[in-house]
Amino acid sequence: MSEAERKRMPEGARRSGPANDFSGRTVLIVDDDPAQVKHVREGLAPHGYVFKEALDGAQALSAIRAGRPDLIVMDVEMPGLGGVEVCRIVKANAGEGGFGFIPVILMTARQAAGKVEGLELGADDYLVKPFDMLELGARVKSMLRLKALQDALLEKNRELEWANRELDRRRQELLALSRTDALTGLFNRRYFEERLSEEFMRSRRYRSPLSLVMLDIDHFKRINDTFGHPFGDEVLRAVAHTARATLREVDLLARYGGEEFIALLPEAAPQDALRACERVREAIERLELTWKAPDGMTQEVRLTASLGVATVPADDLQGTEALLRAADASLYSAKGTGRNRVHQHAA
Ligand code: GH3
Ligand code: MG
Ligand code: MG
Ligand code: MG
Repeated sequence: MSEAERKRMPEGARRSGPANDFSGRTVLIVDDDPAQVKHVREGLAPHGYVFKEALDGAQALSAIRAGRPDLIVMDVEMPGLGGVEVCRIVKANAGEGGFGFIPVILMTARQAAGKVEGLELGADDYLVKPFDMLELGARVKSMLRLKALQDALLEKNRELEWANRELDRRRQELLALSRTDALTGLFNRRYFEERLSEEFMRSRRYRSPLSLVMLDIDHFKRINDTFGHPFGDEVLRAVAHTARATLREVDLLARYGGEEFIALLPEAAPQDALRACERVREAIERLELTWKAPDGMTQEVRLTASLGVATVPADDLQGTEALLRAADASLYSAKGTGRNRVHQHAA
């Protein structure tokens, strides 16, 4: 395996190295008898573990807090805090915010073995003193293997959670993108049409008014022809921004086509819709844009827009198609009677 590959591996898997080599792992040995601590340490020394030692339960807990060992080999019978109690504390704090999973092997004297076995030890394994070093070595190795697997699993879970969150975030981004018009940042036509059906049904069910507005920039072709297409784009963004800022937050505004915008005004009766359109028309009329010529010369550019609006419920507008057509016809009549005005479909 290359070094680069090793680096990409989850921490848990990387640390375990070859499946049976746990050298470098930290083993905490806890016993109130220093001779027993020494005995265990010397017995395990050939495996290349790093040893931490404690002579009672309190020392053991500080050692665990100071640096989580990979394994605890601990005497049961100690004055003060005994091995079983320390084990309980370790297991009670096994959550991610606590110590995490640390395997515990308890050591107990033969005469107490029956009692210990009867207790709800909570330990992962136990040894009856005196035990032979071969057995200790084998138990320790198997517990370290368990610990390595547990760590790898945890790491995998973390990676999975991260990947899920990332996926969710990208899904949201993609969804937003699929609804957005790239030039203006407004909603696009597809999303508008989706919402139009929903809002139309809602309006019908609750008999609440719903107004639809179509807006088209006047003589936009001239703006493009005179100042160039990039400036035309700038005008489109300015109109989009102005309309968005003028309408209410609940009003749905979208770019419908080239220089046409469309808005859905929930709960807006004909008079409300007319007023809203008039405000938008005035705001666009007041817009002052500056065109900069390549030679540095500047020119003020003014523009206007025409708007058509229709409102349901209306006897002659029984579907979204009819509503769209009515607003479009009103826009057409606003254009035909001189532009820079709002026309309303007569119910
Ligand atoms: P009217 O007052 O009758 O609406 O005249 P108009 O010139 O605005 O109408 P027309 O439909 O003839 O022109 C619309 C122009 O909008 C034509 C097209 O080149 C331009 N256009 C469409 N999409 C874009 C765009 O994304 N950017 C720019 N800059 N221009 C666009
Ligand atoms: Mg003891
Ligand atoms: Mg047009
Ligand atoms: Mg136009």
